[in-house]
Amino acid sequence: MSPTRVGTCKLCLRSSALQRSHLLPSFVYKLLREPGLPNPNPIVVTNRAEYPSSQQTTAYLLCRTCEDLFSKNGEKYIRQQVFDGKRFPLLERLRTVRPSQAKGKLFIYREPAIEVDWERLRYFALSIFWRASVHQWQRVPLDNWVRLGPYEEPMRNYLVGTAPFPQYIYLRLILCAGLLAQGAAQEPLTSLKQGFRVHELTMRGLLFYLAVGRSVPSEFKQVGLGEQGDRFLIVDDHDETIIRRYSAMKRQHSSTT
Ligand SMILES: [Zn+2]
Repeated sequence: MSPTRVGTCKLCLRSSALQRSHLLPSFVYKLLREPGLPNPNPIVVTNRAEYPSSQQTTAYLLCRTCEDLFSKNGEKYIRQQVFDGKRFPLLERLRTVRPSQAKGKLFIYREPAIEVDWERLRYFALSIFWRASVHQWQRVPLDNWVRLGPYEEPMRNYLVGTAPFPQYIYLRLILCAGLLAQGAAQEPLTSLKQGFRVHELTMRGLLFYLAVGRSVPSEFKQVGLGEQGDRFLIVDDHDETIIRRYSAMKRQHSSTT
């Protein structure tokens, strides 16, 4: 049994015994371990240093009922789709159909004729971005903090099951073909892209983007996991982005030592 503490659950707002909730699902932290290595713990890379760590990002956040809701509505399904070290089921299924567009290492699949649980993909992604926003988790650099502001509450209502998918919320999913991205995970962070804020989450080959608000450009809205309209999955390498970020962080390490 995980330790508990009595408090107000952030999702259902009831006073309850709170669980030690993970920022990313606990299975992700387990998948990052390399049992064959002398130090099997994942390498954590931050602006200041890189080091192996068994620490998982957790906080007393949700009651047992809400933890179960997140598990049932998203995490169990996602666990069966990500790269597990040998297989990457969602990418493998997608590779069996023809993309609608291809450009270099980028492939776009519009309404792909494979089995995809779009609702669980959306629910899972929002559940992670929402929990990143409603608590000040350790380890995330403050300038990259996910802040959803007025969108937190409509998301909470959707996640707890009392409202439909909220308006002005746009999700996109990239399946990473690169081996580095498939082996990595990055807790949610925010960056500015062409004048609008994009929140992102990388997890064992799945890269989710979230943009919120009325001013999100139509190009971003069009290629996504939308509840209405066409739905798209995108395959991209993504390793070059990871290498670029890693190099930038290494430069910061050497400039601070
Ligand atoms: Zn609850």
